[in-house]
Amino acid sequence: MIVGVLAVQGDVPEQARAIGRLGPEVRTIRRPSDLDGLAALLMPGGESTTISDLIDRSDLREPLATRIRSGLPTLATCAGLILLSRDLEPGPGGRDPRPLGILDISVRGSDFGRQREAFEAWVRVEGLPGGPFPGVFIRAPRILHVGPGARPFAWRGEEVVGARVGNVWALTFHPELTDDPRLHRAFLRLARGATAPA
Ligand code: GLN
Repeated sequence: MIVGVLAVQGDVPEQARAIGRLGPEVRTIRRPSDLDGLAALLMPGGESTTISDLIDRSDLREPLATRIRSGLPTLATCAGLILLSRDLEPGPGGRDPRPLGILDISVRGSDFGRQREAFEAWVRVEGLPGGPFPGVFIRAPRILHVGPGARPFAWRGEEVVGARVGNVWALTFHPELTDDPRLHRAFLRLARGATAPA
């Protein structure tokens, strides 16, 4: 089983390590042909505007969107969540990323302050065994609204910090920056189920 990590910018090594330690082959994705034969995809955190520009420049936008829409199990964190979103509230000045519009959520980018204000908080994830998950939030986006095409599956208190549709999971925090493998393990199980012969 090959799991791809979108590798145009961001915390690619951390995602590769977090999933690789659970067993699958890991492939970095930089061009459309890298998508061939993937069983699952990780979209890392980073700078969503830069990632958005680079997927255009490397002709990945359409093939990525097509593969994800057609059921490729995908785990997106932070900037990755921004890229999957349907609606992005324009930021204060500067250029905004162009989201893929796949997940029915509206998002405000970097809503929890600057890099130095990164924080850790417990997150409740639906169906995750072992109790709350340690969420690492770094300039995290805020999910403003979950539309009828998606559903929330992770909360920090009352606030939604994760949403999904089918095999596509998106989180505002960074499970790849903790030693806790439970979220990547649960995602891998979903991906294995999605590719298992009927
Ligand atoms: N808010 C950042 C952005 O807009 C994402 C931060 C992150 O991925 N840690 O790109």
